[in-house]
Amino acid sequence: MKLAAVVFAFFKKYKISYYQNHDEVLFPCLLCGSRVTMMIYNTSWDCSGCGASGNLQSLHELVQHSDENTICLQRKKIYHPKHERNQINYRLRLMMTRAKDKRNAKELESIYKKLNILLAYLMPEDGGTG
Ligand SMILES: [Zn+2]
Repeated sequence: MKLAAVVFAFFKKYKISYYQNHDEVLFPCLLCGSRVTMMIYNTSWDCSGCGASGNLQSLHELVQHSDENTICLQRKKIYHPKHERNQINYRLRLMMTRAKDKRNAKELESIYKKLNILLAYLMPEDGGTG
């Protein structure tokens, strides 16, 4: 099994919120909840919030030896920009179809288009519109 697959299997198994960004995996620190970046190629990670660091092995040991209070922190969600963009687009489209006033509908459509041009500029690697 490729290392990346092992990393994703770990986060799924322990229901830890994560987000892949190229060769990195972002997840909430199991000790303090801050955003942690793990390098997929060697699984090294360190937390800027509490200073904890390690690799997948040490993360696994942390989960296995954690108490209920630590488990709670695992349920903290990592901010996932692609999901957020999809939700914003979904809500905007919903507002566009519900708009009774034609001027409001046109204005919303204009905002929707401008927002997605901006997001494509800021996040080109995430591709098209949600
Ligand atoms: Zn931390």
